[in-house]
Amino acid sequence: MLTAVYGGSFDPPHAGHLRAASLAVKELGADRIFIIPAAVSPFKKRRRGQPTDAGRLELCRLAFSGIPGAEVRDDEIRRGGTSYTVDTLEALKNEYPDDTFFLVIGSDQLISFRKWHEWRRILSISPLFAVLRDAGDLEAALAEARAIEDETGSRVTLYTEDPLVVSSTGVRDGTADAGLPAAAEEYIKKHRLYPKRRAKK
Ligand code: ATP
Repeated sequence: MLTAVYGGSFDPPHAGHLRAASLAVKELGADRIFIIPAAVSPFKKRRRGQPTDAGRLELCRLAFSGIPGAEVRDDEIRRGGTSYTVDTLEALKNEYPDDTFFLVIGSDQLISFRKWHEWRRILSISPLFAVLRDAGDLEAALAEARAIEDETGSRVTLYTEDPLVVSSTGVRDGTADAGLPAAAEEYIKKHRLYPKRRAKK
């Protein structure tokens, strides 16, 4: 089984996340993609309209429901606190020893990937599938993909077509549309989440 793994804050999820997940499934021919929202530190004060971890998990379930093979998992939220990607991947590898894994990231994360905790060990479990977030990232992302390949021999797949420029920050501060399916938008409205986000007409 080919399993893509996609972690993030998803606070909130947005169309860029959905696109990256669906591209991973299509381009890699993945059988499934695990969406793994990160836990928010219990010591951090919650912003007005910020969902609880359980709420964000539910919102992710509604948001990613249309992506074939998507399974939203609570691995990191259940563990609580800061989770390192390498630990999450090792636990998945133990749970599904026969699976082949890919890690899905955006180009901003690719560019800083060699600063990640135990990044080489991450690559020994799962090569990278990276999606360009912004045309301005192209050169740096290509250079980083090449550097990682040269240094480790692990192949980096970089998808560069038509980047979708949207961020959770933009949705939170009201400068970008999340572009989520109706059920997810309803959930946000019903629970009065992300009060500054652009209201959908
Ligand atoms: P924030 O604005 O709060 O920093 P974000 O929009 O970057 O959030 P995250 O939840 O931090 O969203 O991202 C999770 C993963 O999805 C990261 O690997 C990130 O690079 C990737 N990603 C986020 N937005 C996009 C996008 N528009 N296109 C492709 N990948 C994306």
